[in-house]
Amino acid sequence: MIEVIDVSKRYGKHLAVDRVSFTVDKGEVLGLLGPNGAGKSTVMNIIAGYIPMTEGKVTVDGLDVVEQGHEVRRRIGYLPEVPPLYPDMTVDEYCTFVSRIKHVPAKKRKGHINEIMERVQIADVRRRLVRNLSKGYRQRVGLAAAMIGNPEVLILDEPTVGLDPKQIIEIRNLITELGKTHTVILSSHILPEVNAICERIVIINHGRIVASDTPENLSARLGGGKDLVIRVPGQAQAALGILEGVGGINEVDVMGEREEGTIDLLVRSERDTRSDIFFAFSKAELPLLAMKPFDLTLEEIFLQVTQDPQEGSNNVSSVS
Ligand code: ADP
Ligand code: MG
Repeated sequence: MIEVIDVSKRYGKHLAVDRVSFTVDKGEVLGLLGPNGAGKSTVMNIIAGYIPMTEGKVTVDGLDVVEQGHEVRRRIGYLPEVPPLYPDMTVDEYCTFVSRIKHVPAKKRKGHINEIMERVQIADVRRRLVRNLSKGYRQRVGLAAAMIGNPEVLILDEPTVGLDPKQIIEIRNLITELGKTHTVILSSHILPEVNAICERIVIINHGRIVASDTPENLSARLGGGKDLVIRVPGQAQAALGILEGVGGINEVDVMGEREEGTIDLLVRSERDTRSDIFFAFSKAELPLLAMKPFDLTLEEIFLQVTQDPQEGSNNVSSVS
């Protein structure tokens, strides 16, 4: 559905996007993950036809973004980082305005807008001025605007930034719903977010793709899943003794005292050792105060995927 081929973008001397290539299949939800300044918005702006690329080619549904920009834009609903809302319009007026710009036939406008308002749940604020809406509602209005005209592709730039936890969950659920009927590209600098919503993740750092895979494969390859952090009272010595008796553990690192009077240990295993660890500590009458998966932070993942595979233990094979 979307093909990004060797796309580069230069802002003056600064190379913001460096030969980025990836494809998005029809109906897929793809996450563009990377820290601030990585080039996510630039890539999205280029795909949506909002800014020109310096080099490369992008096609949407076989159409060239540059040569057939008008056709492409009709197929894309774009939610930019800061949605271009008009504060002095009501939600109704704004949606009608957007549907005019997008050439939704006058006869169909009302029904179409009603349908979208139901779907993103903004019908209850339709007569309110945009300026008086909460950030969460504004984001939904932005999403509604992107959906007007029934584009097949939705490009959503950091759709949950600035929302509170409840709003974040609501928007994530909404995007998951939309993913069933649309091709979606979503950007985020939050790993659990793309993990939760996306079928495939493209990690971008300093304008380059450093990894591209399913969330499951990424965390498996990066050693996630089987590594645990446990917290026990007292000193490390007793815990280390107990862990020695558990089979399947490759390595134990003492992480230190994160809570007064306790010690955290990082346990790296070759299999799922959680039950064995639990029973071993129970038998030794040393309580396990906590046990949780050792989640790599985005920064740690970047370190791993940007490492030379010859040196490191990782091997992210589908790096483009
Ligand atoms: P992200 O969305 O991942 O945070 P951006 O695509 O916004 O990253 O930015 C990528 C890089 O390009 C950054 O270093 C940013 O400062 C730079 N940049 C973005 N837009 C412009 C612009 N209009 N002019 C100059 N530099 C820009
Ligand atoms: Mg951005």
